[in-house]
Amino acid sequence: MLVRAVSLDLDDTLWPVLPALIEAEHCVDRWLQQHHPDVARAWPLEAMRELREQIARDNTHLSHDFSEQRRLTIRHAFAACGIDDAPVDETWRIYFAARNNVELYPDSLAALERIVERVPLVAISNGNADLEVIGLHHLFHTRLSASGVGVAKPDPRIFLAAAEALGLPPHEVLHVGDDPLLDVVGAREAGMRTVWLNRDGAVWSHGPAPDLEFTDMTSLADWIEASTATDS
Ligand SMILES: [Mg+2]
Repeated sequence: MLVRAVSLDLDDTLWPVLPALIEAEHCVDRWLQQHHPDVARAWPLEAMRELREQIARDNTHLSHDFSEQRRLTIRHAFAACGIDDAPVDETWRIYFAARNNVELYPDSLAALERIVERVPLVAISNGNADLEVIGLHHLFHTRLSASGVGVAKPDPRIFLAAAEALGLPPHEVLHVGDDPLLDVVGAREAGMRTVWLNRDGAVWSHGPAPDLEFTDMTSLADWIEASTATDS
């Protein structure tokens, strides 16, 4: 297998995303309690979460744009309290800062630094992680998000956009991610080689197996170093 570049999922591949998402919701809730107590009372954390899920169901045209879903949720919550001029930008800034305050898996950074010594890296994420805020942007040749490209994984077009940005045919790009459907099935349908990053030791049950499977990023870096040594 000839690998000339790695494309990489972010959330739950380089860091666990759930703690950051939960903390971000709490930060917004605390800010609302302080500055808009009526809205905070009308929309406690769980109700706000349900509202966002409802907004997502009602706005399938925004399925690739979690950020806009959250802005719309705030607008809706305030409107329901009779306030048309919702502080959308301010609540978004609070959410965004906390959402990007992620704690990397202990193997991630060292592995990324080893991989970029051999091949360029592209990020492909459906979420709204910001590598610049997180401090990893210098390691990435290109960063693609579903909201920027206009389609979300597993749509092959977002993977093809990554290959195009690299100037490589898809079969020379190895896509790495934790999600069997979004990452492995999606990338395979775009013609990429695939790695399932299976940190939890789950059982594969999504059709044809990925080309490779690793439990951490260190093993991926080992494989990249070994394979680029024989190819060059
Ligand atoms: Mg992921």
